[in-house]
Amino acid sequence: MVRKIVFLGPPGAGKGTQAVRLAQELGVPHIATGDLLRAEVQNQTELGMRAKSYMDRGELVPDELVVAMIRGRLEKASGFVLDGFPRNLSQAQLLNGVTRVERAVLFSLSREEIVKRLSARRLCPQCGQIYNLLARPPKHDEICDACHTRLMQRSDDRPEVIENRVDIYTREIQPVLEFYQNQSVLREVDARGSVEEVYRAVKAAVS
Ligand code: AMP
Repeated sequence: MVRKIVFLGPPGAGKGTQAVRLAQELGVPHIATGDLLRAEVQNQTELGMRAKSYMDRGELVPDELVVAMIRGRLEKASGFVLDGFPRNLSQAQLLNGVTRVERAVLFSLSREEIVKRLSARRLCPQCGQIYNLLARPPKHDEICDACHTRLMQRSDDRPEVIENRVDIYTREIQPVLEFYQNQSVLREVDARGSVEEVYRAVKAAVS
């Protein structure tokens, strides 16, 4: 199985859920730029303060900020599951200068389904567990199964921001797909199935 993996796909396609599981099975770090950026914002670091206004609008944080945040982790790693990066061609090229990606897995999902899923997404602010009120609800009404904290909605999962994020994704990802297609490392998985079904497809894509 390959060990240097990037997950591509629209917000809400289930990349995070699958990335956690695959990284655990392969024994490599799961590097999610969105999670790292949210932690920087929470800790009110200089980087976090610069990133926040972009994130609130659903826009991409400038490449140099994101790359500075993950470069060190990538240089050291013999493997990784990168989730949420690269988001545009320039990030894919910058990444290529740091390390060689062995497989790029595209999670495909229709626009309608993306909007539906993101509107139903909830997050535990305490332990980070992700739920979906439609597909993966908690046992008790909006309470985390693991740590019993009240779930919250990400501020960028509001309808007007969701539309903006999907527009940006659709525009920016096309050249990234061509980039990885040209390197013969691109594989596509249908993100519509259950968590189990999608995981099987992901495993096949990285074998
Ligand atoms: P995510 O959790 O992956 O949906 O990311 C949440 C937000 O963080 C995005 O809407 C962007 O504002 C920012 N972000 C995450 N990853 C990147 C990236 N690779 N490049 C630029 N901005 C990013």
